Amino acid sequence: MAAPARVRHDGHATTVVFGTGALSDLPDLLAEAGARRLALLDGLPHAGPADRVAALLGPGRVLRLRVEQQHVPSGLAERARAAVEAGGVDWLVALGGGSTLGVAKAVAHATGLPIAAVPTTYAGSEMTPIWGITEDAHKRVSRDPWVLPRLVVYDPELTVGLPSRASGASGINAVAHCVEAFWTPRRTPVTDAVATEGLLLLARELPRVVRHPGDLAARGGVLRGAWLAGLALAGAGTALHHRICHVLGGTFGLPHADVHACVLPAVVEHVAAAVPDALARVGRALDTADAVAGLRALCGDVGAPTSLTELGLTGADAARAAELVVAEGPTAPVPVTVAGVAAILDRARIAP
Ligand code: NAD
Repeated sequence: MAAPARVRHDGHATTVVFGTGALSDLPDLLAEAGARRLALLDGLPHAGPADRVAALLGPGRVLRLRVEQQHVPSGLAERARAAVEAGGVDWLVALGGGSTLGVAKAVAHATGLPIAAVPTTYAGSEMTPIWGITEDAHKRVSRDPWVLPRLVVYDPELTVGLPSRASGASGINAVAHCVEAFWTPRRTPVTDAVATEGLLLLARELPRVVRHPGDLAARGGVLRGAWLAGLALAGAGTALHHRICHVLGGTFGLPHADVHACVLPAVVEHVAAAVPDALARVGRALDTADAVAGLRALCGDVGAPTSLTELGLTGADAARAAELVVAEGPTAPVPVTVAGVAAILDRARIAP
């Protein structure tokens, strides 16, 4: 039998608390970590949850900052850094989705401050040392172990306010982390296992969340899936699919989770012949012999957007995006060409 291929797997040290009501553990976790003065970055549309977190933490020691934009514009990150430094903060608390955590990571990178993350979407960023920052219509993605949150509190109650459509799209963002983890050059037996279990959970629970947004058991199932999806992304990294999504978000301003839902089936279809093992894993998780059709059905079932045209991407934008994607040199299981990426984007512009 051939010796196993040599693999490298980087584990990351994060304390995770998961469960309904887990938010109430946050003050003790921060006290244990020695936190004194906190910046609370709030990316939620209503003040209620941030008011609750600030009250829990002791309002007198919390500097509150709002995060209202996606894709981490460099100016926003810079203003947050300046406020945090002026406020004498020693820990960052990020309450929100991937955008809020992205700003927290940019600040952590610039200041060296540790992050406690309280995710409210299924983006999975809280598990990764990866962050993006957008400047001059270009989203640059970096990796630095230092920005990985030291504490993560997953409380399904905090996701109940995420509307059905946004929940569906955000869940497909997590699905995309799992699927692409099956073919990146950094994949390992650990990321395969984690992504497989994450995908199973997401495929089973996401339709339930969309049909019954108040179902805490289903919300918990999707949040566990998102946790695993984030771990898979952290270990396996990303390839062509995520690069396309970052170009569409950073340069064309399209919403991140929605873009994943439109692009993922088209990318899987494009690389399918080169990754039969990945297709088999996706098919098993979705209980179908046709992984691409299964992914399209899942996206439709959870009400996620299904065409980039619906999100506002024109044919001319798609042609330009294809060139930008290829210029960044993403890895993929098939050769990456402008014509190939343009074909993916053309397919993703049309609803199935
Ligand atoms: P987001 O953080 O931008 O949130 C989307 C919208 O949902 C916002 O309007 C927000 O206010 C609202 N929202 C969030 N939680 C809510 C809740 N519980 N109830 C009601 N409304 C709520 O979206 P996202 O998809 O979580 O994050 C996208 C960003 O995260 C992108 O910039 C993407 O690149 C990044 N990301 C990074 C990683 C990583 O590992 N670095 C992984 C995934 C995504």
